[in-house]
Amino acid sequence: MTSTGRFTPALKKLVHYSHDHCSQCGATLPKGIPAFAGYNAARLEVYVGECCKDTIAELASHIYWWWSDYRRPTPETILWRYMDFSKFIAILNNKALYFPRADQLGDPFEGARGAADREKEWKAYCLQYFREAIQTAPGPSKPSENLAGEAERLYQDFVEFGKREIQNTFVSCWHASDVESEALWRLYCPPETAGIAIRTQFSALDLALDDRFSVKFGYVQYIDFAKNFSGTYDRIFWKRSSLRHEAEVRGVITKGWAKNSNELGLLIPINLPLAVSAVVTSPFASHWFGSLVKSTIQKFDINLPVVPSNLLAEPFF
Ligand SMILES: [Zn+2]
Repeated sequence: MTSTGRFTPALKKLVHYSHDHCSQCGATLPKGIPAFAGYNAARLEVYVGECCKDTIAELASHIYWWWSDYRRPTPETILWRYMDFSKFIAILNNKALYFPRADQLGDPFEGARGAADREKEWKAYCLQYFREAIQTAPGPSKPSENLAGEAERLYQDFVEFGKREIQNTFVSCWHASDVESEALWRLYCPPETAGIAIRTQFSALDLALDDRFSVKFGYVQYIDFAKNFSGTYDRIFWKRSSLRHEAEVRGVITKGWAKNSNELGLLIPINLPLAVSAVVTSPFASHWFGSLVKSTIQKFDINLPVVPSNLLAEPFF
């Protein structure tokens, strides 16, 4: 059955909430086998496994178990994005979220497989893997005299492919936490900069982003690159453990593997009233800043709740 790629917000929601369960019979969906998202004959949304595949009249897409590779946020996960006021105005003006290209995010380890001083080790591992793959591939037996050369060629292709993949990957970074972070206010909106934080819930953010773009969300995994490699797949979700304080959930868009991507970022349309549960003003901003944020939002004909930082709550003794 060919897939139509048509995802209504209701179908997206069903996929999120059903997660690893068949929406028809309730069975646990086995890992590693694609599930099916689509619509039944009555045009109602269904998300099913092989068990109830026959109920699908229109297949929107196969759903692969990518989220088993790293932790996927739950629909209720609270996400924050701290930013200076000019970035917020850009979001209002564009009614879109900017996803910078991965190599523009400022972290040289974005998408890295490992630390440079361990590249030899990684290469040796890959070459061994490729030599075995060449020798055990089905078909007529392979001449072994150029085995090393063939493995080297595959390795170079693999490296080239990896670089291109990063240049075609676009990322939106969010901080996962139930509460505000004083540290992140200081980092992204230091006292001399007026700033805000957008608070959202993962399910709302995901539903609010334009359906035409497939955004893959996941928790960033923090590792010590001196001891670990980030692996072959999903390495855009691995960062150095020194960045653990970011507690990041990121949305990732991969746009094919074109050779010369000259886009430095993508603007992804977003339904702001759906996505934004609150615009929180910086605890360091002047007392008039909250009303400026409110009136600015109104000028863009959008209705978003603006609340002061709860770091300003007063103690009693
Ligand atoms: Zn089922």
